[in-house]
Amino acid sequence: MLDLLINNGLIVDGSGNPGFYGSVGVDGETVHIFRGEPSGAEAARVIDAGSKVVCPGFIDVHAHSGLMILAEPEHHPKVRQGITTELVGVDGNSYAPFTSHEDFLAFVELNSGLDGAPKLPGIWSTVAEYLDMFDGKVAVNIAYIIGNSPLRISAVGWDERPATDAERANMQAMLREGMEEGAFGLSTGLDYPPGSYADTAELVELAREAARLGGIYHTHLRNTLGDRFLDPVKEALEIGRKAEIPCHLTHFYQKLTHPGSARQLLELVDSAVARAQDVTMDCFPYAYSSTRLLIMIPPWAFDGGPAKLKGVLRSPEGRERLRQEIIPRAGSFNEIMLTYFKQPHNRRYEGKSIAEIAGMMKKGEVDTICDLLLDEDLQISYVSPGPSPTTLPDFMTHPRTMVGTDAVLLGEFPNPRTYGTFPTILADYVREEGRLTLEEAVRKMTSMAALRLDIRDRGMLRDGMKADIVVFDPGSVMSPATRNEPKQFPVGIEYVLVNGTIVVDQGRHTGALSGRALRHGRV
Ligand SMILES: [Zn+2]
Repeated sequence: MLDLLINNGLIVDGSGNPGFYGSVGVDGETVHIFRGEPSGAEAARVIDAGSKVVCPGFIDVHAHSGLMILAEPEHHPKVRQGITTELVGVDGNSYAPFTSHEDFLAFVELNSGLDGAPKLPGIWSTVAEYLDMFDGKVAVNIAYIIGNSPLRISAVGWDERPATDAERANMQAMLREGMEEGAFGLSTGLDYPPGSYADTAELVELAREAARLGGIYHTHLRNTLGDRFLDPVKEALEIGRKAEIPCHLTHFYQKLTHPGSARQLLELVDSAVARAQDVTMDCFPYAYSSTRLLIMIPPWAFDGGPAKLKGVLRSPEGRERLRQEIIPRAGSFNEIMLTYFKQPHNRRYEGKSIAEIAGMMKKGEVDTICDLLLDEDLQISYVSPGPSPTTLPDFMTHPRTMVGTDAVLLGEFPNPRTYGTFPTILADYVREEGRLTLEEAVRKMTSMAALRLDIRDRGMLRDGMKADIVVFDPGSVMSPATRNEPKQFPVGIEYVLVNGTIVVDQGRHTGALSGRALRHGRV
């Protein structure tokens, strides 16, 4: 007898092939497909999926959940979108391996405006120990990629300088060990020190090590490089080519600040592919960016680590230099909205722009930023304009693009992508605008990501695959999350199963924590 039978749905199996009517059985953690008429198979529970789509669970290839999910394991904002697997450790900022716990804590603080700094249920140092934290304790599956920041902190320290040969060898050894323990490759975030202190050659050597073990190179580009437009992409492609590693450009879109066209960006990718390079991308469907407020502080201020950084923020000389150098990354201080304040006296600034807060504090914008960062232990996030809304669809619909939410899980005013990415693609790109077929959209959300990461037992609904499943209503699926009211759950995502267990039942979270760490080479 089956544990569950999802009867009579339109099965969109994740391959990109046309959907077909049939039933999906779940036996333990495993899928069994019945084509055609509703199945009469015996099952402990039967769900009628008439007029619904049944598809594989969605895979988010850019997640900032690596700490937050351990503190809030039900993971509502993500699992209620239909996400059943997340890739964490992106942007070069990941949380294992760390050889010193003191460095780990300093790094958590440094990156807390992006990944949070929650109370954690345990202590780890190796990748193996970190992955053990997730098994059966969180709502979704976690795939992990090693950021170059922790490698650099352990091998080189926090300083802005090139790594020596011995330090490079050390980073490679740590990367190798972490991948043998289950990590999927190497990530970088070349706007984020100290990982961004690595030069191209250092990254080629690290990526080559990841390639040897079958990993990928997942990169947030060095956006400040050269022309700040095409040169950052060229660096990433060069690293991919020289290291002979699959190159994944994460949150890849045209920025409002770019001087040229979307076509020029995509042509770099297309011509690399035409020269037989393996390149993929991900994107989210919103014209807002979000990250830690610290990204506005120039790299030199991070030299030496978080304690020294705070010294710079505090000192009159540091302030003076920052006043000269800090400019808004996109738009103006009027358009950069801050979120997450743990100090009660700062809560009145939630969701307000830097310009507005500066007015309330009767200070200049840069002093406002520095004072708030010091007061909040560096943990502030922001939402601002970023991607060009007119060309975003060119990136999302590109045949080599999959889906990454880049969801920051902090504050009262997160980017709406945190709650709405996957349902918005199904609503806008598929139903309303017809830019993607249902099958193509589901493929981008499922098998494309599984194949990229080399996860072989998920991403498609086929006999014997793991039962990560979403049942949604194609006629009503959508996200009501907006910039001003972002914390709203999607409509139309009715059932979500993770490893055969129902986590979302008729739109409600069951409390089940059936996720686990997926280990590279063992999935
Ligand atoms: Zn990110």
